[in-house]
Amino acid sequence: MSLDPSRDCPLCPRLVAFREEWRAREPDWFNAPVPVFVPRAGLGAARLLVVGLAPGVRGANRTGRAFTGDYAGDLLYATLKAFGFARGEFEARPDDTLELTEAAIVNSVRCVPPENKPVGAEINTCRRFLQPVPGEMPALRVLVTLGRIAHESAVRALGAKPSAAPFGHGATAKVGGFDVVSSYHCSRYNTNTGRLTEAMFHDVFAKARALADAA
Ligand code: SF4
Repeated sequence: MSLDPSRDCPLCPRLVAFREEWRAREPDWFNAPVPVFVPRAGLGAARLLVVGLAPGVRGANRTGRAFTGDYAGDLLYATLKAFGFARGEFEARPDDTLELTEAAIVNSVRCVPPENKPVGAEINTCRRFLQPVPGEMPALRVLVTLGRIAHESAVRALGAKPSAAPFGHGATAKVGGFDVVSSYHCSRYNTNTGRLTEAMFHDVFAKARALADAA
Protein backbone atom coordinates (compact mmCIF):
# COMPACT_ATOMS: atom_id res chain seq x y z
CA MET A 1 0.00 0.00 0.00
CA SER A 2 1.33 3.44 -0.87
CA LEU A 3 1.39 5.91 1.99
CA ASP A 4 2.12 8.80 -0.30
CA PRO A 5 -0.17 11.12 -2.24
CA SER A 6 0.14 11.31 -6.00
CA ARG A 7 2.48 13.93 -7.41
CA ASP A 8 -0.54 15.92 -8.54
CA CYS A 9 -2.70 15.58 -5.43
CA PRO A 10 -5.46 18.13 -6.06
CA LEU A 11 -6.90 18.46 -2.56
CA CYS A 12 -5.53 21.84 -1.41
CA PRO A 13 -6.12 24.49 -4.09
CA ARG A 14 -3.78 27.08 -2.60
CA LEU A 15 -0.93 24.58 -2.34
CA VAL A 16 -1.60 23.22 -5.81
CA ALA A 17 -1.31 26.77 -7.20
CA PHE A 18 1.96 27.29 -5.28
CA ARG A 19 3.29 23.94 -6.53
CA GLU A 20 2.45 24.91 -10.12
CA GLU A 21 4.15 28.25 -9.68
CA TRP A 22 7.37 26.53 -8.55
CA ARG A 23 7.14 23.90 -11.29
CA ALA A 24 7.14 26.75 -13.81
CA ARG A 25 9.97 28.61 -12.05
CA GLU A 26 12.18 25.60 -11.26
CA PRO A 27 11.26 22.68 -13.54
CA ASP A 28 14.20 20.59 -12.31
CA TRP A 29 13.06 20.67 -8.68
CA PHE A 30 10.91 17.99 -7.08
CA ASN A 31 7.89 20.31 -6.61
CA ALA A 32 5.43 17.64 -5.40
CA PRO A 33 4.12 16.11 -2.16
CA VAL A 34 7.16 14.79 -0.29
CA PRO A 35 7.01 11.05 0.47
CA VAL A 36 7.66 9.36 3.81
CA PHE A 37 11.42 8.89 4.28
CA VAL A 38 11.80 5.24 5.29
CA PRO A 39 14.73 3.08 6.43
CA ARG A 40 16.53 1.10 3.73
CA ALA A 41 15.18 -2.06 5.40
CA GLY A 42 11.63 -0.75 5.10
CA LEU A 43 9.10 0.89 7.38
CA GLY A 44 8.98 -2.26 9.51
CA ALA A 45 12.45 -1.45 10.86
CA ALA A 46 11.46 1.90 12.33
CA ARG A 47 10.76 2.25 16.03
CA LEU A 48 10.59 6.03 15.80
CA LEU A 49 8.45 8.27 13.61
CA VAL A 50 9.51 11.90 13.34
CA VAL A 51 6.66 14.19 12.31
CA GLY A 52 7.63 17.52 10.78
CA LEU A 53 5.54 20.45 9.66
CA ALA A 54 5.84 20.79 5.87
CA PRO A 55 8.56 20.85 3.19
CA GLY A 56 10.67 23.99 2.88
CA VAL A 57 10.54 25.52 -0.57
CA ARG A 58 14.30 25.17 -1.16
CA GLY A 59 14.57 22.12 1.09
CA ALA A 60 12.46 19.00 0.62
CA ASN A 61 10.35 20.70 -2.05
CA ARG A 62 13.51 21.08 -4.11
CA THR A 63 15.18 17.75 -3.33
CA GLY A 64 12.21 15.43 -2.70
CA ARG A 65 13.60 14.02 0.56
CA ALA A 66 12.31 15.14 3.95
CA PHE A 67 14.49 17.68 5.76
CA THR A 68 17.02 17.68 2.95
CA GLY A 69 18.40 20.79 1.29
CA ASP A 70 17.89 23.46 3.90
CA TYR A 71 19.12 24.11 7.42
CA ALA A 72 16.54 22.06 9.37
CA GLY A 73 18.10 18.77 8.25
CA ASP A 74 21.57 19.61 9.60
CA LEU A 75 20.51 19.40 13.22
CA LEU A 76 17.89 16.68 12.72
CA TYR A 77 20.12 14.17 10.93
CA ALA A 78 23.14 14.80 13.17
CA THR A 79 20.88 14.12 16.15
CA LEU A 80 19.29 11.02 14.64
CA LYS A 81 22.79 9.68 14.01
CA ALA A 82 23.92 10.52 17.54
CA PHE A 83 21.09 8.45 18.98
CA GLY A 84 21.38 5.47 16.65
CA PHE A 85 18.39 6.17 14.40
CA ALA A 86 20.42 6.93 11.25
CA ARG A 87 23.89 6.38 9.78
CA GLY A 88 26.06 7.58 6.92
CA GLU A 89 26.97 11.10 5.88
CA PHE A 90 24.29 13.74 5.54
CA GLU A 91 25.28 16.08 2.73
CA ALA A 92 21.87 17.66 2.17
CA ARG A 93 21.36 15.74 -1.09
CA PRO A 94 19.05 12.77 -1.66
CA ASP A 95 22.01 10.85 -3.15
CA ASP A 96 24.26 11.25 -0.11
CA THR A 97 25.04 8.22 2.07
CA LEU A 98 22.70 9.16 4.89
CA GLU A 99 20.22 6.41 5.64
CA LEU A 100 17.64 5.92 8.32
CA THR A 101 17.98 2.76 10.39
CA GLU A 102 15.32 2.78 13.11
CA ALA A 103 13.37 5.90 12.19
CA ALA A 104 11.02 7.18 9.53
CA ILE A 105 10.20 10.81 8.80
CA VAL A 106 6.98 12.32 7.53
CA ASN A 107 5.57 15.82 7.27
CA SER A 108 2.11 16.63 8.56
CA VAL A 109 1.54 18.64 5.37
CA ARG A 110 3.19 17.06 2.33
CA CYS A 111 3.21 20.07 -0.02
CA VAL A 112 5.23 23.21 0.45
CA PRO A 113 3.08 26.06 1.80
CA PRO A 114 3.77 29.74 1.09
CA GLU A 115 5.94 31.24 3.84
CA ASN A 116 6.11 27.83 5.57
CA LYS A 117 2.60 28.40 6.90
CA PRO A 118 -0.11 25.87 6.07
CA VAL A 119 -3.64 26.95 6.99
CA GLY A 120 -5.94 24.87 9.16
CA ALA A 121 -7.89 23.38 6.25
CA GLU A 122 -4.66 22.19 4.60
CA ILE A 123 -3.41 20.61 7.82
CA ASN A 124 -6.73 18.85 8.29
CA THR A 125 -6.94 17.72 4.66
CA CYS A 126 -3.44 16.30 4.52
CA ARG A 127 -3.96 14.36 7.76
CA ARG A 128 -5.47 11.59 5.64
CA PHE A 129 -1.90 10.84 4.49
CA LEU A 130 -0.43 11.00 7.99
CA GLN A 131 -3.08 8.86 9.65
CA PRO A 132 -2.22 5.49 8.02
CA VAL A 133 1.55 5.75 8.59
CA PRO A 134 1.77 4.45 12.20
CA GLY A 135 -0.42 1.49 11.29
CA GLU A 136 2.12 0.43 8.67
CA MET A 137 4.95 0.44 11.24
CA PRO A 138 4.79 -2.76 13.29
CA ALA A 139 7.85 -1.85 15.38
CA LEU A 140 6.76 1.74 16.06
CA ARG A 141 7.01 2.78 19.70
CA VAL A 142 7.70 6.51 19.77
CA LEU A 143 6.78 9.63 17.82
CA VAL A 144 8.77 12.84 18.01
CA THR A 145 6.71 15.79 16.83
CA LEU A 146 8.46 18.95 15.66
CA GLY A 147 6.50 22.08 16.50
CA ARG A 148 2.98 22.60 17.75
CA ILE A 149 1.21 22.18 14.40
CA ALA A 150 2.87 18.85 13.64
CA HIS A 151 2.28 17.73 17.20
CA GLU A 152 -1.43 18.49 17.22
CA SER A 153 -1.96 16.95 13.80
CA ALA A 154 -0.13 13.79 14.86
CA VAL A 155 -2.16 13.54 18.07
CA ARG A 156 -5.37 13.88 16.05
CA ALA A 157 -4.07 11.30 13.55
CA LEU A 158 -3.66 8.91 16.47
CA GLY A 159 -7.30 9.45 17.39
CA ALA A 160 -6.96 11.80 20.37
CA LYS A 161 -7.70 15.45 21.06
CA PRO A 162 -4.68 17.79 21.37
CA SER A 163 -5.82 18.58 24.93
CA ALA A 164 -5.03 14.96 25.80
CA ALA A 165 -1.35 15.55 24.97
CA PRO A 166 -0.50 19.25 25.27
CA PHE A 167 2.50 20.48 23.27
CA GLY A 168 5.62 21.42 25.21
CA HIS A 169 9.29 21.00 24.49
CA GLY A 170 10.27 17.61 25.91
CA ALA A 171 6.71 16.82 27.02
CA THR A 172 5.73 13.17 26.68
CA ALA A 173 2.32 11.57 26.55
CA LYS A 174 0.84 8.19 25.74
CA VAL A 175 -1.40 8.50 22.68
CA GLY A 176 -2.98 5.63 20.79
CA GLY A 177 -0.60 3.17 22.45
CA PHE A 178 2.53 5.14 21.45
CA ASP A 179 4.80 7.46 23.39
CA VAL A 180 4.72 10.93 21.86
CA VAL A 181 7.51 13.38 22.65
CA SER A 182 7.03 16.95 21.45
CA SER A 183 9.85 19.31 20.55
CA TYR A 184 10.38 22.79 19.25
CA HIS A 185 10.97 22.59 15.51
CA CYS A 186 14.63 22.42 14.47
CA SER A 187 14.28 25.43 12.15
CA ARG A 188 17.03 27.96 11.65
CA TYR A 189 14.79 30.60 13.24
CA ASN A 190 14.42 28.58 16.44
CA THR A 191 18.11 27.79 16.71
CA ASN A 192 19.22 31.32 15.80
CA THR A 193 17.00 32.85 18.43
CA GLY A 194 18.11 30.35 21.07
CA ARG A 195 14.60 28.98 21.50
CA LEU A 196 16.06 25.58 20.62
CA THR A 197 19.64 24.59 21.39
CA GLU A 198 21.43 21.45 20.28
CA ALA A 199 21.41 20.26 23.88
CA MET A 200 17.65 20.75 24.13
CA PHE A 201 17.14 18.82 20.91
CA HIS A 202 19.42 16.03 22.12
CA ASP A 203 17.37 15.76 25.30
CA VAL A 204 14.27 15.03 23.23
CA PHE A 205 15.96 12.27 21.25
CA ALA A 206 17.61 10.81 24.33
CA LYS A 207 14.10 10.49 25.72
CA ALA A 208 12.87 8.92 22.47
CA ARG A 209 15.77 6.47 22.49
CA ALA A 210 15.06 5.43 26.07
CA LEU A 211 11.35 5.00 25.37
CA ALA A 212 12.03 3.00 22.19
CA ASP A 213 14.47 0.74 24.04
CA ALA A 214 12.22 0.29 27.06
CA ALA A 215 9.20 -0.76 25.05
S1 SF4 B 1 -0.92 19.16 1.24
FE1 SF4 B 1 -1.49 17.00 1.23
S2 SF4 B 1 -3.71 16.93 0.83
FE2 SF4 B 1 -2.96 18.98 0.29
S3 SF4 B 1 -2.51 18.88 -1.91
FE3 SF4 B 1 -0.61 18.38 -0.83
S4 SF4 B 1 -0.57 16.17 -0.62
FE4 SF4 B 1 -2.68 16.76 -1.16
